[in-house]
Formats: sequence, C-alpha cells, structure tokens
Amino acid sequence: MFSDFALHERLLKAVAELKFVEPTPVQAAAIPLALEGRDLRVTAQTGSGKTAAFVLPILNRLIGPAKIRVSIKALILLPTRELAQQTLKEVERFAQFTFIKSGLITGGEDFKVQAAMLRKVPDILIGTPGRMLEQLNAGNLQLNDVEVLVLDEADRMLDMGFAEDVQRLVDECPNRQQTMLFSATTGGSGLRDMIGKVLNNPEHLQLNQVSQLNATTRQQVITADHNQHKEQIVNWLLANETYQKAIVFTNTRAMADRIYGRLVAQEYKAFVLHGEKDQKDRKLAIDRLKQGGVKILVATDVAARGLDVEGLDLVINFDMPRSGDEYVHRIGRTGRAGNDGLAISLICHGDWNLMSSIERYLKQSFERRTIKEVKGTYSGPKKVKASGKAVGVKKKKTDAKGDKKKTGAKAPTKRKIANRPKTDALSLVSKDGMAPLKRRKPEAPAAE
Ligand code: AMP
Repeated sequence: MFSDFALHERLLKAVAELKFVEPTPVQAAAIPLALEGRDLRVTAQTGSGKTAAFVLPILNRLIGPAKIRVSIKALILLPTRELAQQTLKEVERFAQFTFIKSGLITGGEDFKVQAAMLRKVPDILIGTPGRMLEQLNAGNLQLNDVEVLVLDEADRMLDMGFAEDVQRLVDECPNRQQTMLFSATTGGSGLRDMIGKVLNNPEHLQLNQVSQLNATTRQQVITADHNQHKEQIVNWLLANETYQKAIVFTNTRAMADRIYGRLVAQEYKAFVLHGEKDQKDRKLAIDRLKQGGVKILVATDVAARGLDVEGLDLVINFDMPRSGDEYVHRIGRTGRAGNDGLAISLICHGDWNLMSSIERYLKQSFERRTIKEVKGTYSGPKKVKASGKAVGVKKKKTDAKGDKKKTGAKAPTKRKIANRPKTDALSLVSKDGMAPLKRRKPEAPAAE
C-alpha cells in the first residue's frame, strides 16, 4: 500500500486519485530509500513504474507552503523528448494538490518561450541534455541550488552520445544532496564510469532480472520464408488479433516505410516513425496514437524510445532486434504496469540464431506459433545445437586449387547458362513474355 510509505498526505491523495493501489516492485524498493535521501542506482525495465519511484520522493522533499520561488531544486535528465514530456505529465499529476511547479526543456520547442519559463523558476526542471546545455550556455539556467538530480534511462543517454553533456550538467549541480540514476539495462563501461563519477555510495537496486521480464506479456515466434511472407503474416495479425494499438518494429527505415505504405494502401490508420522523421512528425504520431486516431505505429528502435502509450498491447518484431537489450526495450512497450500484452517475432532462416541467443539471454523460451492461413514452408532448422542455434550445413570440401570436389549434382555449364531466357536488366520483365519478375532496386540498408 502506498500509505505505508512516509509520504505527505497530499501526495497520497494524488496517488489515490490516479487509482494506483499497489506500489510496483521498483516503487516498493526505491521509495523508502529515496525518502531517506540515499543515492540510488536502479536497474529497472521500461514500464516498471520507475517514474513514480523517483518523482514521489522528490515531491515529498519539496512539499510545503506556497512560497516565492528562488531556485530550481530538482533536475531530471532523460534521453528523449517524449520521455521528458511523459515525465512532466507524471510530475504534474502527482503534484496536483501541492504548489510545486515544474518546467520542461527539450529540443524542438521554442527557445525563447523556454527562457521565459525559466525566468519564473520552476521547482523541478525536466529535460533532455542537449537543449538544457544550450539554455545553460545562453545564461538562462542556474543549477547551483539543485538538491536532487535524476538521470533517467542513463544507458540510453550514453547510447545517444550524451555522456559529455550529462557530465557538464552534473558539474553544474555541485550542491546536490541526492542523485538517482535509472537504467533499463546494466550497461557497459560507459555507464559504470558515469556511476562512479556522479553517485555517492549508492544503494544498487536490481529490479529487472531479465528472466522475470514482462511476466504479463506473452512472447511468441512465427517462422516465415522471406520478407514478403512476413508482410502477409503482419497483415493477418493486424486483421485477426485482438488489440487496441499495435507497433510493428523494423531494423531499417526503408523497411518501416515499405510496411507503412502497404498498411496505408489497405486503409489502416497507421503512422511511421524513424530517424529521418522530424520532431513535428514524431509528436503528431504519438498524439494520434494516444488519442486513438491511429491504431498502428511502424517504427525503428531509435524512433520508439521512451514511448509510453496506454493500450499498446501488440508488438510485432518484423525484424528480430539485434540484441537482447533491444528486445527488452521493444517488448517493454507492451504489458506496461500489469496490463496484458502480446509480443510476436517473425523469424526467417537468417533470424533463427539471433532469436535463440535472445532466448538464452532472457532465460526464456518463446512460444512457437503457426497460423494455418499464412503458413509457409520454413519451420526452423532441421537440427539445433544444445544452445538452440542451428547446426550449420557442412561446407563442401575443396581441393588444393580451391575448386569444389565433384559431388552428385553437376554445376550448370556455360552453354546452359547462355540458353536461359534473357531478362531486361532494368525492368526485369522476362523477354519470353512470362510474368514480370519482382525486384526492387538494391538499396543500402538505411540502418538507424
Ligand atoms: P513508468 O515505468 O514510470 O513509465 O510507468 C509506466 C506506467 O505505469 C505509467 O503509465 C504509470 O502511470 C503507470 N504506473 C506506475 N506505477 C503504477 C502503480 N503503482 N499502479 C498502477 N499504475 C502505475
């Protein structure tokens, strides 16, 4: 129960108003320590309720009678604009029965309007490091009196190249009494370095044992023959699954655009988000998705970071994410705060080993699913090793000259190749008048 925490009654009233009944595990572990003023290093998954875990103790520290504001008392840094906006909303919801004011500083918004907001001096400032630093350099920001500093999704901030900016901002808060660092993953040496520099004798709370992840999200895999077959499966799933809102993940912008085009052609209300889209598009996509005007989002990993959309209950991995952590981030979009979710990964021959290493990383075995209406021929490798990976096909032996040794099947002779029907290299329509051969221009994968 939230009333077990030593929180001010006005905060408990807000918690009740929001219909939060039970604290989530990260809240149960972090709130008492944060209330004591301890530095915290928390590893917790996206959607675990970690925002309230640091916001409530900050508000509890700052709560009091209305007073003339003189300085910023708490600074919350996050990697993306959307995450910053969501955090501001969360702060405002919890602070609704207090006089505490908060402000937002992110890129993509009017610089002067932000400067005017800063002149009014919010108690809590939330934002992304890049723009925050610009406001600081312009002389609009004074962080000397910051008492509490939060670095949320610190691993993401490092991934996105914010290490130096974050360190600069941390140095601007020399009088802070408490620092809390949150990350979804345990991170690498960059994160360890940051932890060593910014935290003072922290308590480490490790909430996301990967094997416990997403207990409320069913995780399935469906095998596919090739990308076109994957597209058929996506169509079937979007037409037949029960969901409020869905997100389809791809590894490249080109594939995201392609799937989006197909969905729109079928009159689905969809939106696409990837690194080439500007801030306006991102905002529009997220607003429409939240309001329900759009039900399906096609996105790459970078674009989807920090999304918290209620009712997002179906995640389709068109491409398998490239790492276990990325997988955790993707499926963290669904099954948030106890709601049920479904995550489906589409697996071609080339995705199998990646899938099995992610299963091993998560210590989970994904449910195998087949859909008879769109069943293909590939159903996994013929043989798998103990690790779950495919047993490789033995390479043919070569002789000393590097030529293949004769096997049963003969290689086609030059003459036979020459006799094949010729194709027009550009249109790839076969000259013998048969059906056009499908081919798109080869394109370099526009990875995010
Ligand atoms: P977060 O991980 O902080 O982004 O939280 C994910 C979602 O869970 C947000 O929409 C929160 O409002 C919601 N939430 C957080 N804590 C609780 C709770 N104790 N009970 C119900 N919902 C919660």
